[in-house]
Amino acid sequence: MNLKNRDRKHLWHPLTQHKLHPEHLPIVKAKGVWLYDEEGNKYIDGISSWYTCMYGHSHPEIISKVKEQLDVLDQVVFSGFTHPPAIALSEKLMGILPSKMSKIFFSDNGSTSVDVAIKMSLQYHFNKGKKKQRVVALDNAFHGDTFGAMSVSGLSVYNGPFEEFLLSVDRIPVPDAHNITSVLHDFQALLDTGEVAAFIYEPLVQGAAAMHMYHEEHLEALLDMAANADVLTIADEVMTGFGKTGRNFASDFMAIQPDIMCLSKSLTAGVAPMGLTTCSEKVYHAFYDDEIAKGFFHGHTYSANPLACTAALAGIELLGSEEIQEAIHRINERHLEFERRIDRHEKVSGTRVTGVILAMDIDVKMDRYGTLRDKLYKFFMEQGVFLRPLGNTVYTLPPYVISDQELDKIYEVMEKCLEIV
Ligand SMILES: *Cc1c(COP(=O)(O)O)cnc(C)c1O
Repeated sequence: MNLKNRDRKHLWHPLTQHKLHPEHLPIVKAKGVWLYDEEGNKYIDGISSWYTCMYGHSHPEIISKVKEQLDVLDQVVFSGFTHPPAIALSEKLMGILPSKMSKIFFSDNGSTSVDVAIKMSLQYHFNKGKKKQRVVALDNAFHGDTFGAMSVSGLSVYNGPFEEFLLSVDRIPVPDAHNITSVLHDFQALLDTGEVAAFIYEPLVQGAAAMHMYHEEHLEALLDMAANADVLTIADEVMTGFGKTGRNFASDFMAIQPDIMCLSKSLTAGVAPMGLTTCSEKVYHAFYDDEIAKGFFHGHTYSANPLACTAALAGIELLGSEEIQEAIHRINERHLEFERRIDRHEKVSGTRVTGVILAMDIDVKMDRYGTLRDKLYKFFMEQGVFLRPLGNTVYTLPPYVISDQELDKIYEVMEKCLEIV
């Protein structure tokens, strides 16, 4: 039996209605920006495998460090024990995170990093004897699929079965030049209830909401109001972290820093699953007590896995290199160039660029997972480029190591796809 049929027998894939999409393409190898299928076809990974492998697949420096670590210490319990890769990673992170960040709590993925952040902020107020039990989130947010993360996510088209079980969340629109006054007003009204524990947001770019981008001044105004109301701010940088916006973190664009940040995805350069939640000394201090129950009793078996920490450390070293910093700058310039060219196309209703993220809205109505989306996906794959359109938005977030030629190929298929819609 071939791989496709063997897959179908026992595997249940994420975000998939199997009756409508029974087939999954077996990928047997990945190197640099390329994915290789069973039959030897290759595809440019135009979305860095969901924004993870930003330094390309199987980067030799990352691989050699992880292999070395594998011979020394594979896994150990992180309660009661610690280990060199976690310590070195914490020190390395403190060198690039916003200066307010002080402590790092490990978990397994982006959703758990968000759940940890929410639990931390709820318990922060609980420990201080304050009854603050609501969370404010932005419209169309995506923060993950576990219960806490799902609660604060606003793209809930498929969350129907769980709606009654979610946390108490209030939502405000994403601010823009037109609605900013009313958004600030709505936010203030929520803060004035005195019941808000935290405000969670994807800074500057909402990935799952078709790469929706918004302005730093507007976000900064919200952060300022939250700080004045003793409301903790949680920056979910699971997608935006580690250079994708042009700076190390999207939060670096604002003068007001968050209290808590969530990181995952490219944290480990696409090598191993890991998430982490980092917080300020103020947050940590509310848990630091003679009373055991004031501690944070949350833990995952694979917390701070040494191999994942080693991959993360190697990735951050690459991020700081001149080569990668130049690449980020170059990709951004090229994106802007392509944007100027495509923006006037009659079938393009909008374009936007932040850092290495480029999105293009096609001027046609269709369902988020509708047939045209499938047609586009198929077209891109036939052309040798892996892109996953979101509704009528085609976007790319390529690995930093992509060459000009390979980038041209992505632009070419994005332009060509306008002919088939
Ligand atoms: C992907 C993502 C998550 C969820 O991360 P998982 O590792 O898929 O659980 C949370 N927040 C944002 C902004 C994301 O892009």
